[in-house]
Amino acid sequence: MTRTFFRNASLLDGENLPRRETTVVVAGNRITSVSEDTAAPAPGPDDRVIDLAGKVLMPGLWQGHFHSGFGAFGGGTSAPVLGLEEPTAYLGMLAARNATTALHCGFTSIIGSSNGQGLDVCLKEAVLAGVVEGPRVTACTHEFVVSGDAADGTNRSWFMGLGSHGLVRRLDGPEAFRQATREELGRGADVVKISASPGHGSHVARDVCYMTDAELRAVTDTAHERGKRVRAHTASKTSILACVRAEVDLIDHADRIDRECIDAILEADATVLPSMLWYDRFLGLAENWDHDAQPFPIGDGFPETREQTLARIRGVREDYDYTRSVLAEVAESGVRLVVGDDFGTPLMPHGDYVSEMELYVKQLGIPALDVIRWATKNAADAIGMGDQLGTIARGLLADLLVVDGDPIRDIACLRDPARLRAIVKDGVFVKDAL
Ligand SMILES: [Zn+2]
Repeated sequence: MTRTFFRNASLLDGENLPRRETTVVVAGNRITSVSEDTAAPAPGPDDRVIDLAGKVLMPGLWQGHFHSGFGAFGGGTSAPVLGLEEPTAYLGMLAARNATTALHCGFTSIIGSSNGQGLDVCLKEAVLAGVVEGPRVTACTHEFVVSGDAADGTNRSWFMGLGSHGLVRRLDGPEAFRQATREELGRGADVVKISASPGHGSHVARDVCYMTDAELRAVTDTAHERGKRVRAHTASKTSILACVRAEVDLIDHADRIDRECIDAILEADATVLPSMLWYDRFLGLAENWDHDAQPFPIGDGFPETREQTLARIRGVREDYDYTRSVLAEVAESGVRLVVGDDFGTPLMPHGDYVSEMELYVKQLGIPALDVIRWATKNAADAIGMGDQLGTIARGLLADLLVVDGDPIRDIACLRDPARLRAIVKDGVFVKDAL
């Protein structure tokens, strides 16, 4: 078997400080050796040897909150929640495009975060079958909501309740949640998404948890029995604590997280995905909008007065400023953080994933090394794949990037296609500009 020798690399393995003059050997889809150049095995005549002088070798990135079917309207300001607004076949095409985009941005793994109509499972299988060129897919279910919650599409779109589910799946009571969890995991999903609170974006936040403890438990027990995971939209202290108590694995957004939440999350070994780029983009538009001239176009689907719109925007600002003020404390506490934001929603085009990482480093002062760990090692650990992916070590699967730049000094270099010189997924070069 021909091997590939990446020699003289600056190794950024997602866990440790960079190590210079390192050789990584890949055979098939596995990393077979990681050592100092001087201690590396000798290449054979058929092996490919690549000198990476001045370049960084790092694990493939993970996008931890991937809505594969979002983005129909190209990042404009008036995208509906994707459900039945588009035919299923069109959503599949979008998902294929988004998956290919992610892979070519260096994101070799994605963790789904709700989609309609089995899209993620189809995408996962299409990638495995070679039908779509895409990253490794951890497939997510519909977004499970209770009647009357802010994400329940029946509140605003008459067709959402007709039996063919759009993005969301409306459920009430533990039995309904249990059955839906069994059904969607049985169809091949890997993670269940539940909507536990309003807030984080266009909906006004309130300190509530939509789901009862019994409903939460019905989902987590059913998923964990099958070795699967559960993620929850949480934007209130009450919902964070309720979800963590019920052993939800991935806490999305976690707005209003505080010391009590941090302690509970650490105790439960849960993962937090703050996904703050959306806030930043939303407020950039909302706070500069001429609200006297025309209505602000991003809302939750209900008519509202100008005063209500302005109050909603002020609420988003308060939530954002609060989370900005505590995120460093969360990071320093040892909570496992992972990157992943609502790309495909208005102002957030798929492919712009590195901007979220850049925000944490440049606006919030989180060290780049930590944010890279959030996008590699932590993400793999969060879904129980840390022994296979997320770092560069002997025996692991070969998902690798070669970067002509120093992401520790300037994380934005990861966004530049010219600097992303190679992308390797499962031992195969997706991009090879070496
Ligand atoms: Zn989302």
